[in-house]
Amino acid sequence: MGTNYYIRGHSNDDSPDWHLGKRSAAGMYCFDCGVTLCKKGEDQIHYTPPGDRGEWWHEQYPKCGKEPVNESLQESTAGKELGFNDEPQKTTGVRSCSSWSWAMSQDRLKYLMENTEEIDNCPCCGRQWQDYPNKLVQDEYGRLFTFHEFQQLIADCPVKFAHSVGVYFS
Ligand SMILES: [Zn+2]
Ligand SMILES: [Zn+2]
Repeated sequence: MGTNYYIRGHSNDDSPDWHLGKRSAAGMYCFDCGVTLCKKGEDQIHYTPPGDRGEWWHEQYPKCGKEPVNESLQESTAGKELGFNDEPQKTTGVRSCSSWSWAMSQDRLKYLMENTEEIDNCPCCGRQWQDYPNKLVQDEYGRLFTFHEFQQLIADCPVKFAHSVGVYFS
């Protein structure tokens, strides 16, 4: 369960030149302690083996003892990645989180943000975007974001991965 983000007009292109990266539902996280409840650590949050019976995940985080908030699909990050939850991430207590995996390098992103005239028109016909011309980020469902909105969305992900920078993936 995840959502890919691209530079506008390039949502079918998984080249790291245009694919910003992917946000994925990443299990329970204690936002107060800043720690995943995955016993194996952040690197293993997406690899829970089938039939896991508590070997992979804490039911509650032992350090603070807080129990997970009961979340509906409208509140959980699984729901977010499925399109049921449009709320900003709440950042207190133990609740579900999303991870962010970069595809584009920080240098490339910085360059594009500083040179938006290179991307403010359609890559197929060159026409300037007529609607929301300042929204130059697009997710795989066609929803549009400004760079500022995109950065907020990344900031909401407490776990970030850079091991796929420069890699084609989706
Ligand atoms: Zn805690
Ligand atoms: Zn066009």
